[in-house]
Amino acid sequence: MTERSMVKIQGATKVFNPGRPNQVEALAEVDLTVASGEFVTLIGPSGCGKSTLLRLIASLVSPSEGSVTVNEKPAEQARLDRDYGMAFQTSGLFDWRTVTKNIELPLELMGWSKADRRRRARQMLELVKLEDFANHHPQELSGGMQQRVAIARALSFSPSLLLMDEPFGALDEMTREHMQNELLRIWQETGTTLVFVTHSIPEAVYLSTRVVVMSPRPGRIASIVEVNLNDRDGATRDTPEFFAKVTELRTALRELEG
Ligand code: ADP
Repeated sequence: MTERSMVKIQGATKVFNPGRPNQVEALAEVDLTVASGEFVTLIGPSGCGKSTLLRLIASLVSPSEGSVTVNEKPAEQARLDRDYGMAFQTSGLFDWRTVTKNIELPLELMGWSKADRRRRARQMLELVKLEDFANHHPQELSGGMQQRVAIARALSFSPSLLLMDEPFGALDEMTREHMQNELLRIWQETGTTLVFVTHSIPEAVYLSTRVVVMSPRPGRIASIVEVNLNDRDGATRDTPEFFAKVTELRTALRELEG
C-alpha cells in the first residue's frame, strides 16, 4: 500500500512582485512530500522562505511555478474544504470573546449549531487541559495558555493538517518546553499531520519526525534530517541520541554558510 501524502509540493517557485524593482525570489524549485501523520519542521536562516512555503501549503499565496496539493487535492480546494488549521507566533485571539467563544469561532463560520459548537469547544478545552478557563477572556491567561487556546481553535474542526509558524517563539524557555510536550501529546492523540516552522534547533529535533533545512534566499531544500528518537519525554533532551541529532542539524545549517 502506498503511503497517503498530506502535502505534495512539486517544482514550486515563488517570486514576489515579478518584473518590478522590488522583485524578490523567495523560493526556488522546492519539492517536498509530507506523509499523513508526519511531524515535519522547516528550519533555515531568517528570510529563507519558511513562512512563504507554509503559506503556499495554506494556499494563502500561490506558487509562481509548480504545484501544491494538500490532502490529495489542489491546495486552494483544501483551503476551501478547511482541511488545515493554522497557528502563529501570536495567538490571534479576540479579547472580547471568552475562551470558549474563541474556540467556537471557526465552527460558527462553518454554520455549526450552537449545541454542537459548545460540545466541541468543551472537548477541545479538555484536549488542551484548559477546562477551568472556559469562560475567561484571553487577557486573563498567560502567553502559554493563550497559545493552547489558539491550538484548540485551529483543531476545533478536526483538520487533517495543522500548520504552525513559530507558535512558541514568544514564550519563555520553560513554558516553551511545556508547550512542546503538549503539542506532541495532541499530535499523538489526534493523528493530525504537522508542518511547523521554527528557528530553534533543539525544538526542531525534539518535535519532528523530519526536519527540512532550507538554504538562504531563494529558499531551496538544502537537506533533510530524519529524527528517529524512540520516546520524547522529560529525559529525552539529556540523551546522547538527542545531542547527536542537534549536532547533525546544526552542522547542516552551518554548511549553508559555506
Ligand atoms: P522566513 O519565514 O524564512 O523568515 P519569509 O517566507 O517570511 O521568510 O520571506 C522570504 C522572502 O520573501 C523575504 O525576503 C521576504 O521579504 C519576502 N516576502 C515574503 N512575503 C512577501 C510579500 N507578500 N511581498 C513581497 N515580499 C515578500
